Amino acid sequence: MRVLLVEDDDGVASSVTLALEASGYVVDRETDGEAAWFKGDTESYSAVILDLGLPGMDGLTVLKRWREAGQAFPVLVLTARGNWNERVEGIDAGADDYLPKPFQVEELLARLRAILRRTTGQTNPLISVGALTLDTRQMRVTVNGLPVHLAPQEYRLVSYLLQHAGRVVTQLELTEQLYSQNFERESNAVEVLVGRVRKKLGVDLIETRRGFGYIIEKPV
Ligand code: CA
Repeated sequence: MRVLLVEDDDGVASSVTLALEASGYVVDRETDGEAAWFKGDTESYSAVILDLGLPGMDGLTVLKRWREAGQAFPVLVLTARGNWNERVEGIDAGADDYLPKPFQVEELLARLRAILRRTTGQTNPLISVGALTLDTRQMRVTVNGLPVHLAPQEYRLVSYLLQHAGRVVTQLELTEQLYSQNFERESNAVEVLVGRVRKKLGVDLIETRRGFGYIIEKPV
């Protein structure tokens, strides 16, 4: 899952980035409202974490412009504590949730998981297809109840496909969701990754749709 973090405070941004990366997300960070608006409008993100007080263009304006342009990704807004009208304005502008500063990163991660579940239609942190189960809270994958040890990139792949089970996910979409923008993307990186994950899972759940991408079927 690729997340855009828009935060001009370096301290907050680095602790949030560390926590997100440790939880398996790919993070792009922007510090300026104008640049953030452009990123959100042109790149593909699973979710955005948006601070409201930003140089360039304020966060509320950024959010309104994304929504006006039809950008539907979930947005978690970071607000100043006690500023209730900022929260109301944020939600009216199209935010999915808000978090007052200062906050514990654990709470941010939980709120992010919740808005991602809502947008993917997954209300349960446990997602199962056949013998395979993903626990999005513990970031664990099990096959027939036995844990499978996956590297972060491998976990991201399984997690993304499971959260979009029943839909073909293209190579391009996977590349965007699994690798940060400054990663040297080799043309067959996703293919190699899928091959490795299939071997580790030992069950045949990830189907290749030649010329289109990959799919994990929804359980019937
Ligand atoms: Ca700020």
